[in-house]
Amino acid sequence: MTAERSAGSGEGNPKAGTGQALARKWRPRRFEELVGQEHVVRALTNALRQNRLHHAWLLTGTRGVGKTTLARIMAKALNCETGITATPCGVCSACTEIDAGRFVDLLELDAASNTQVDSMRELLERALYAPSSGRFKVYIIDEVHMLSRSAFSAMLKTLEEPPAHVKFILATTDPQKVPVTVLSRCLQFNLKQIPAPEIHTRLAQILEAEGVAFESAALNLIARAAQGSLRDGLSLLDQAIAHGAGRVDEKSVRAMLGTVDQSYLLAILDALSRCDGPRILAIADEMQARSLDFEIALQELAALLHRVALSQTIPDAMVADAGEQASLASLAAALAPEDVQLYYQIAVQGRSDLPLAPDEYAGFTMPLLRMLAFAPQGSAPRPSRAAEPSAAPARRSGSASGAPLEPAAAGPADDLLLKDGLQPAAWRRLVAGLKLGGMACMLAEHSELVGWDGERLQLVVPEAHRHLLERPYRERLQAALEAHHQRKLRLEFTLGAMNGNTPAEQQDQERQARQRRAIEAIEGDPFVRELVEGFDARVADDSIRPLESGESRQAGG
Ligand SMILES: [Zn+2]
Repeated sequence: MTAERSAGSGEGNPKAGTGQALARKWRPRRFEELVGQEHVVRALTNALRQNRLHHAWLLTGTRGVGKTTLARIMAKALNCETGITATPCGVCSACTEIDAGRFVDLLELDAASNTQVDSMRELLERALYAPSSGRFKVYIIDEVHMLSRSAFSAMLKTLEEPPAHVKFILATTDPQKVPVTVLSRCLQFNLKQIPAPEIHTRLAQILEAEGVAFESAALNLIARAAQGSLRDGLSLLDQAIAHGAGRVDEKSVRAMLGTVDQSYLLAILDALSRCDGPRILAIADEMQARSLDFEIALQELAALLHRVALSQTIPDAMVADAGEQASLASLAAALAPEDVQLYYQIAVQGRSDLPLAPDEYAGFTMPLLRMLAFAPQGSAPRPSRAAEPSAAPARRSGSASGAPLEPAAAGPADDLLLKDGLQPAAWRRLVAGLKLGGMACMLAEHSELVGWDGERLQLVVPEAHRHLLERPYRERLQAALEAHHQRKLRLEFTLGAMNGNTPAEQQDQERQARQRRAIEAIEGDPFVRELVEGFDARVADDSIRPLESGESRQAGG
């Protein structure tokens, strides 16, 4: 499993930047140097101090969290010439020989390695003999779940009547595969995955001690890529030093890890918060032109959305450098928390759909378009969201001061609804008065009222907005309607054909009508007309889509 276990040759003084150097050089030699395993260390050091020694320990945890490192420190604690201690001296011959991997009474076995399987049983049978120089004969058996049946029975024999001079320190990534007969005779400790911030801190300490220049953002990338394993973090750091020719900067680490420049993803989310579809596609095109990996991009987009969600909900939990902090804060303010949740879902789903996509570009842009489809309309007035007190801070996007809004306040709205039944305008006013936010608001705005009998509302949602029918959104809309009507209601949703009368469509039609009127007004303006005719000028109304396409605005006809 691990390379460093291979043999007991001397360690020398490896220089940073070569192979496994840092992981070996900075391997913890004392309990207090272990990162992220305080709970286990406390239990073990207390036991050592009080001389309450079990004869077998089982250390569990994923790879690279420090199981065998901890086991070696235990071996020193048991055999240090200063006595059984929680603080082995590190200088006596037992300590130094254990550190160097050549202490005769320490037998390190790797059950995952085929070469050792044959001798395993024999070695375990030899446990009965007294130690030759140490206080205890210590067996460290890594990946113990992979021992052969005969080796297990040899070990079990020793565990059942343990000689006072034998200690077993077993380690495994898969405790479920260890026989119960063995488990029941071990004191078990679970080592945790090391959180990225702790890995970051440790890497920074090591680089400072090594005198290697680094950028904090680069260590963020490495700490995340290490996925809970400090050993992997250190290997990556070694590579990064070699890759960056002696320094660790974000750009070369990103290239090394194949990660996507965060600025693209930040720009995508920013464009999304403004509902700027063309900009999103332009960014995707640029990413394609630079042959960035779209699968990694989707993965990192999800990771970024996770950090945005964190900074919205538990800002104190964030560990980010100043630059990232600022970007995250502005995204956290620009995006509603429920949208962040949804975009995250879409990004994760998009990544798993990627192998099925016609090509990588489609597989990457489709989820972005889906996010855009669900993004609150940038130009549409969204009174309900703004009015919701608990909602995220106001969006930068949108045109709060833009189009005037039809009177939205409820008042007699539901009476109208009750009497006249299917008044699209009444449904729209009712929705606007509900003070809904986020996805529930989207659901209401994209629903068309097709039936109402005083108790049951029948709503149709277009196929394109099927995702709005998630239960939480339906329930929130129902709760808001019930609160508004002060009684129980039934909501029935169907997917299907529409008459174009959802509140969102009405708003859209009105917006288009306003634009049409604006264009007409401009073209009808005598001053503008004069300019057009006198100077062969052209009214630049491209930004507001021309609606009557047949009509030429070119002067001089
Ligand atoms: Zn010692």
